[in-house]
Amino acid sequence: MIHTKPPKTVMQRDFKSLLDNAAYPALKRKRPRQRARWAGLAAGLTLFAAAGLLFTDTDADADANRSTGNADSALLENDLSIETRITLPLTLPGGASDEAIEATFAAESAAVTKPAIDWQVETVRSGDSLARIFSRLGISPQQLDRLMRTGEDTAMLKRIMPGQTLKFDVQDGELQQLVVEIDRLNTLHIQREGEGFGTHTTTRELETRVANASGKISSSLFLAGMDAGLSDNLVMELAGIFGWDVDFALDIREGDHFTLLYEEKYLDGEKLRDGDILAAEFTNRGKTYRALRYTNAGGRSDYYTPDGKSMRKAFIRTPVDFTRISSRFGKRYHPTLKKRKNHHGVDYAAPRGTPIKAAGDGKIVHIGRKGGYGKTIIIQHGGKYSTLYAHMSNYNRKLRRGARVKQGQTIGYVGTTGRSTGPHLHYEFRVNGVHRNPLTVKLPTAAPIQAKYRADFLTKTRVLVSQLDMLTATTVAANEHTE
Ligand SMILES: [Zn+2]
Repeated sequence: MIHTKPPKTVMQRDFKSLLDNAAYPALKRKRPRQRARWAGLAAGLTLFAAAGLLFTDTDADADANRSTGNADSALLENDLSIETRITLPLTLPGGASDEAIEATFAAESAAVTKPAIDWQVETVRSGDSLARIFSRLGISPQQLDRLMRTGEDTAMLKRIMPGQTLKFDVQDGELQQLVVEIDRLNTLHIQREGEGFGTHTTTRELETRVANASGKISSSLFLAGMDAGLSDNLVMELAGIFGWDVDFALDIREGDHFTLLYEEKYLDGEKLRDGDILAAEFTNRGKTYRALRYTNAGGRSDYYTPDGKSMRKAFIRTPVDFTRISSRFGKRYHPTLKKRKNHHGVDYAAPRGTPIKAAGDGKIVHIGRKGGYGKTIIIQHGGKYSTLYAHMSNYNRKLRRGARVKQGQTIGYVGTTGRSTGPHLHYEFRVNGVHRNPLTVKLPTAAPIQAKYRADFLTKTRVLVSQLDMLTATTVAANEHTE
């Protein structure tokens, strides 16, 4: 049975301030019972507010909804006077706090009218097995056997670790319930069902908080990111979002600056990891770019400009991490043929085995040897564009003619097959069948927001835009003061 806890100081302080507040002199003079009712009303309103926050600020899953629902019903059933002293958070900074979770659990337990369960908590000792623990508790090996044959869920019981806790409900030597904390997020529940057992797993949802950061580049994006308190991963993501417009290796200048809104994932008030970047702005050499994350009804997330154009281009400019460009597009002296010849592509020198990536989404229309090109792949991208990758050492084994490939997917590896003097990728880009220079061709952008999602996109991103506006306005002001 969970007992109601003594009130937390925050609760007392807020009640005191509410009651002592000069704005409520009449309230103070009221008879104690009435005063208690007022306070109860205040607590009730707060509970509604807390439940509301809990609902909107967490990734509300079924469990969270259920807990919130029970908190509401507990509110209706209990006359919440000061005397009952149920611990309720008056403020929830950005979401469910420990106290809120405890309060909802307490409310949930209070709502259940079953007799108290005498839980036996066993901590796994070094060298322990489930069989040993069962025998310590006087549960028969037959029950363990039946439990282990319940299904896949109970297989994890074979791998219990020292320090892990197991909660047993045993009545007359019969196991009724077993609760196992799998990890911080997941709990396995086992309960008796007739002669056997049933299982289910509950997963706690991480709480999402939105953070923001701004930085100004003096030497590198990574240092500026570090100064702004961003993880390397987040900086990589930021670079990835704007990487289609800004070359982070060559184009970055001192004074370039950025602002971003991003998610942080919390559990029990402790940050576990970063979430997604929701909105970002990057100013490179005086030109400002903005990106907003949007997830459509189909569950697909991508970054768009505020007017709904994709931040991505339909093609990667360079399909391989090359060491140098060994031959450019156009007229050149061909070292193997020993004559001047038009070079229809770009040669990227790279070590043998370097992965070659599909420049864009498309379909493989050729995979195999092709004369002087050696091992070659040709990808068709829609009706208008095609790309060719030659002199490969090997293909991605999974690929066949007709296979669909995604942008950035490894299709093969750098080699020197065919008419070639050393390991390199020969890359061609064709528009309506005509060779174009891959280094300078104007690349088409990826599809913008679909018409059917446009209104939804504008509605959902409006708040992100106004937050970016606010953040960048304060950043500019701060910069003006420091310079
Ligand atoms: Zn070439």
